[in-house]
Amino acid sequence: MQASIYLEADKEHSVLNQHPWVFAGTIAKYEGKVGIGTTVQVFNHAKQLIGRAAYSPHSQIRARMWSWDPEEPIDHAFFKRKIAAAIDHRKQWVKHTNAIRLIFGEADGLPGLVVDQYDKTLVCQFLSAGAEQWKDVLVPILASQTGCESIYERSDAAVRQREGLTSSTGVLFGPNPSSEVLVQENDIQYLVDPLYGHKTGFYIDQRDNRRLVLELAANRRVLNTFCYTGGFSLAALKGGAKEVISVDSSGDALEIAKKQTKLNQFDQNRATWHDKDAFETLKALRVANEQFDMIVLDPPKFAPSAAHLLKAIKAYKEINRTAMQMVSKGGLILTFSCSGAMDMELFEKTIFTASKEAANHQKAGDLKFRVLKRLTSGLDHPKLTCFPEGDYLKGLLLERV
Ligand code: SAH
Repeated sequence: MQASIYLEADKEHSVLNQHPWVFAGTIAKYEGKVGIGTTVQVFNHAKQLIGRAAYSPHSQIRARMWSWDPEEPIDHAFFKRKIAAAIDHRKQWVKHTNAIRLIFGEADGLPGLVVDQYDKTLVCQFLSAGAEQWKDVLVPILASQTGCESIYERSDAAVRQREGLTSSTGVLFGPNPSSEVLVQENDIQYLVDPLYGHKTGFYIDQRDNRRLVLELAANRRVLNTFCYTGGFSLAALKGGAKEVISVDSSGDALEIAKKQTKLNQFDQNRATWHDKDAFETLKALRVANEQFDMIVLDPPKFAPSAAHLLKAIKAYKEINRTAMQMVSKGGLILTFSCSGAMDMELFEKTIFTASKEAANHQKAGDLKFRVLKRLTSGLDHPKLTCFPEGDYLKGLLLERV
């Protein structure tokens, strides 16, 4: 008997509407041998086959839909088609860079699979039981369709635990990649460390926003907080910033930042790098009455889940309020949240509250901001309308009036 799950009548609508996650509470009945990563048939409450999913016994997301076509088997050919479609999409939409998110999980119909391309190196994350189950099939397909030199696994994200999977890193294809893969973005050269860098090595999702900084930075004094390897800092230097002060608590990331500043032959006297806590640094700069013409706030995920929201809102408010009090008239703030649990509406509300608080604290009382633009990730991070959870990166470009 093929392993199967049957959905509850009053809870099935979201899956029928193409939301790829089947929560444990949505399942009325199990049949057959359902194991970790097993492909299961999915039936609606009327016992009609609606598609197939990957089963994940340890997660509240008990299954992730591979397909809503009852006729479509989940096999080698299925993954070949999905991967080819994802790569074709990137060829059409992403130009002039060799740092590209080739596969973005659910948005490409491949839940739990993330593949980032850094020149001839691919870095993969298998974040769901289903993706893990098909790893040996996926890797050769990726190798042959991209012609890459090596494929490296960085399945060391915490979400693996919820799937009952342990952390796994290492080479899957070809030789060990360099710890300094050179990529180009916005005519800037960046060094990516697939082995020990954050996530897969680089925050590809911020490409368009780094471009925006490049375009707006001329003659500005810039503060880049949570700078990682200096993605925004280098964009600001390229754009002609007067001075760029960057802060991150990762010394290793800052070493890469310094190296690539040299590599791009930017004037090193215009850039300073601080291995410090960004909250403390923001406060200290404010106390010292420092002023900036552009401030970037790109913190880590303060709200990993809805349970962390209250604390996260407080943290977002704190850094934004402090930044608002230090930005010059006509100055810009690019502020981000990569917390999936916080949607754009809540983020805007948080920022608007921060601006009120900042104005109240300011003696002059003339602190006023306008939103020039809402910001999001690049086109290689597409978002499904039926899957709001995939829309994790949001930001605002604020101008002090
Ligand atoms: N803007 C970066 C990505 C930022 S990711 C880019 O475009 O590449 C978030 C960064 O925040 C990480 O580099 C992490 O080291 C840093 N970080 C986390 N907590 C911090 C803290 N309290 N103070 C300073 N940096 C912090």
